[in-house]
Amino acid sequence: MATVSGHRPVYLDHNATSPLRPEAREAMLAALEIGANASSIHALGREARAVIESARADVAALVNAKSSEVIFTSGGTEANAHAISSAAAGGDIKRLIIGATEHDAVAANARASGLPVEVWPVDADGLADLNWLAARLANWRAEEGRPFVALMLANNETGVIQPVAEAAALIHSLSGRLHVDAVQAAGKIEIDIKALGADTLALSAHKLGGPQGVGALIVRDHVRLRAVLLGGGQEGGLRAGTENVAGIAGFAAAVRAAVRDLPFAADQSVWRDAAANRLAGEGAVIVGANAPRLSNTLCLAAPHMPSSLQVMSLDLEGVMVSAGAACSSGKVRPSSVLTAMGLNDLAGGALRASGGWNTTAQDWDRFADVWCALHARQVARAKTREFA
Ligand code: PLP
Repeated sequence: MATVSGHRPVYLDHNATSPLRPEAREAMLAALEIGANASSIHALGREARAVIESARADVAALVNAKSSEVIFTSGGTEANAHAISSAAAGGDIKRLIIGATEHDAVAANARASGLPVEVWPVDADGLADLNWLAARLANWRAEEGRPFVALMLANNETGVIQPVAEAAALIHSLSGRLHVDAVQAAGKIEIDIKALGADTLALSAHKLGGPQGVGALIVRDHVRLRAVLLGGGQEGGLRAGTENVAGIAGFAAAVRAAVRDLPFAADQSVWRDAAANRLAGEGAVIVGANAPRLSNTLCLAAPHMPSSLQVMSLDLEGVMVSAGAACSSGKVRPSSVLTAMGLNDLAGGALRASGGWNTTAQDWDRFADVWCALHARQVARAKTREFA
């Protein structure tokens, strides 16, 4: 992209999609060159199969799972949908509990499951209330079936990291099942599926520098899932359809790069916090500031500055961020995450800036410069109106 007002464009929207890492691009091009079906038994088919199986090992290693526990999917949405619809179809699960700030990929699929859905509240920092879960499970009745709970590891808007392992202990004490949407956390913090106690876990390649349209559902050995797509019997019969060999290769290459870069991920918080402090000095509210958060994510709300105004004004200056949740229609709605946190007054003014593998300290500085200038203009305009 060309420079804007003499500045290099700034992309702080990695939680929407992280640009493709060079390693992923290279792996995808090499896989595309194979040009064969991984189910074919001839030499090129075997080559494609080898790419998939080596990728499976890389994705498994990312979360300390076994290769046999990885099912490749078309992305995070499908992985979440598979875990939820399959649990709902099993018969032993009769109602679903979902965190109040879950992504629609979880919430909409839970609501569509046909089972009653209970919403597990969060506090003002966006943390799921463990006392609520403990009390709810203490009153669980046998006729309610096995408990099923979906709790995300890190929130897409605020970056808030949920107490998943603590929740798992409560859920498993009743032989319940825990599904974890780890789409935003993967590649940003270390994930150990065993330590977390997740029974199923969703991942998406494009949030960590891989291609869009590919992800994985990790299914622990002891969990029996139903197939969602029937056909050729790929992915252990659980997810039919010719595998996206190039996408899977790119996913694995991005995973390897993200694991390599993980020790440096924490550095982002220094740059992010420097920007946050400047914005807070102008009156912005930093959302989730008191909770453990991903180091790359900054969610703020500015009273009297609608999200859409902020996003568009920043965009004109070459700074690309999101208004709360990015939504497919391109329309900006008040953030349901902030509403769930009880921040109704701020939900219409939420803004999310999220860095990633190619973000620099200068990017966060430029974001703060442009936002503070915008805020100053808005304050001046409001004063003029006051005296008009
Ligand atoms: N879960 C979370 C927390 C997300 O942020 C997203 C994407 O925004 C998804 C699931 C959906 O993933 P995908 O875009 O790969 O379908």
